[in-house]
Amino acid sequence: MAEIGSPGAKVISIANQKGGVGKTTTAINLGAALADAGLSILIVDLDPQGNASTGLGIDPESRRATSYELLIDGDPLADVVHKTSTERLSIVPGTVDLSSADIELVSNEKRSHLLKDALNPIDLEALGIDLVLIDCPPSLSLLTVNAFVASHSVLVPLQSEFFALEGLSQLMLTIREVRSSANPDLRIEGVVLTMADRRNNLSQQVEADARDTLGDLVMKTVVPRNVRLSESPSFALPVTEYDPTSKGAAAYRELAREFLSRNPKLQPIERV
Ligand code: ADP
Ligand code: MG
Repeated sequence: MAEIGSPGAKVISIANQKGGVGKTTTAINLGAALADAGLSILIVDLDPQGNASTGLGIDPESRRATSYELLIDGDPLADVVHKTSTERLSIVPGTVDLSSADIELVSNEKRSHLLKDALNPIDLEALGIDLVLIDCPPSLSLLTVNAFVASHSVLVPLQSEFFALEGLSQLMLTIREVRSSANPDLRIEGVVLTMADRRNNLSQQVEADARDTLGDLVMKTVVPRNVRLSESPSFALPVTEYDPTSKGAAAYRELAREFLSRNPKLQPIERV
């Protein structure tokens, strides 16, 4: 048990309703870097596109036990967890079936709480999980609400480009709505700038604006644009294994260190 004093795994949603901002890349590579540091990590792929699952080598054939079965059919967590080639990193895959979840659940009274029930502390502890990272779809749909209801906090990747901050108010509104109803304790874990090019004026300006507006919520670590990060999913590996010496791998290792220093209760157990 890594969370000293308070039992159970920490659950974090990685969310931004914009697509292509680095949610999946962050789920995979922050997850892998934290697993390398000794934590036992479970990624839950809630995106019908299933990019995190593909990027970690879960082939579509074996996607009969997925987050869809976990949410909609109520399958036990243990039945839908798949190992990856990275030690201590496992995943509940996503599937295209998730795209109809909103409609299928419309008359279900517990529709916002299904993931919270599925990720209950007892089942997570039985699997030895320290930290759950939920890779959210690019929308503020019922799936994302399920993720927020099930989470302790939300980590927001922000692409270093113009208009990056514009979408944040919508996201914050959804977080406030979930706080005022199902999950009053939902926190913002942080905002992480992704695909940054520090030689580029616009990228610098976005970073300055984000730090002005959001202060300490913005992680010190900035993830640069790095081609290795975009190549690694096609090799079904996190960048930390595909090219450990790349700038992308270094950035996610640094992000993992910063994350651990902000979460003193969540320390990796010394493993040999
Ligand atoms: P999202 O999950 O928010 O839709 P992704 O993580 O899938 O975003 O990233 C979108 C695309 O950008 C993917 O092709 C990914 O490989 C690429 N990408 C993400 N982060 C970086 C980065 N720091 N440098 C280069 N390419 C990146
Ligand atoms: Mg994604």
